[in-house]
Amino acid sequence: MIIGFIGLGNMGAPMATNLVKAGHKVIGFDVALNTVPNITMVKTAAMAVQNADAIITMLPNGTVLRSVADQILPVMKRGALFIDCSTVDFESAREIADQANNFGIMFVDAPVSGGINGAATGTLTFMVGGSDESFKFASPLFDIMGQKAVHCGASGTGQAAKICNNMILGVTMIATCEAFSLADKLGLDRQKMFDVVSTSSGYSWSMNAYCPAPNIGPKSPADNDYTPGFSAELMLKDLRLSQQAAHANNAPTPLGKMATKLYEQFVETADGMGKDFSAMLPHLKKMGRDN
Ligand code: NAD
Repeated sequence: MIIGFIGLGNMGAPMATNLVKAGHKVIGFDVALNTVPNITMVKTAAMAVQNADAIITMLPNGTVLRSVADQILPVMKRGALFIDCSTVDFESAREIADQANNFGIMFVDAPVSGGINGAATGTLTFMVGGSDESFKFASPLFDIMGQKAVHCGASGTGQAAKICNNMILGVTMIATCEAFSLADKLGLDRQKMFDVVSTSSGYSWSMNAYCPAPNIGPKSPADNDYTPGFSAELMLKDLRLSQQAAHANNAPTPLGKMATKLYEQFVETADGMGKDFSAMLPHLKKMGRDN
């Protein structure tokens, strides 16, 4: 296949590289980059897509995605496939799907979980919204870049799955950090706390796989001075998307709202910028009870 790839940053570049390794021809475009090893780079988004059978976008947010979609939809081949892997708001995904449909182009929203390591090793999980036909057409590409692709339903449901998953992640990470902070005050050894909780009803991915306490459990960013992993600002972005969707659809998410506030405070008024999201533990340790 000829694949146009737009947005070759931390995630996009390794994903595109895996497509090249699998034998596809990739034409890349990124506003900030002129060269990416093994990818043929071009100077405009339109040039990257005009001969492509499939195009993939991996961009920072919905506003950028909408502007790129406006540039590429009119010049893409009819019947081509547009896979957006960025994490964006539900409304942008739905509206671009409608626009693509008007141009005779198949569109799927396919945000990912698995981070930079998953992108490099081709082990991402894709959450996919779109028609059965589009999902089937896109599946061989998901198989190259990932280990699993779940067809979640109609357009937008991939983004819905992503923001719901990450709202759970943000809330459980904070709960796990709070529990360590309280355990410290009560004189409960952190290792003992892990041994109990990781095999009891308080277990979660945050505790068992990504423990926020250094040198406890499997290796995690906490063991590397909270170098991300998954950064606090990306968690804040996803929590804000969850709250935007909850507000627009009148869904009660009191803990999601509180988690958004806590990550906002951590990133914007404390020292959370550039740290892993599990650094909520040292942040909480510095907070007073009434914060
Ligand atoms: P990034 O900032 O490293 O990459 C985004 C790239 O898009 C940059 O290289 C930027 O120059 C380019 N870009 C911006 N505007 C553009 C435009 N108009 N045209 C072409 N290129 C443009 O970000 P990333 O970490 O690769 O994340 C990409 C997406 O994946 C985001 O939506 C993010 O939320 C999501 N995501 C990231 C992770 C992660 O761990 N990094 C995990 C899951 C999902």
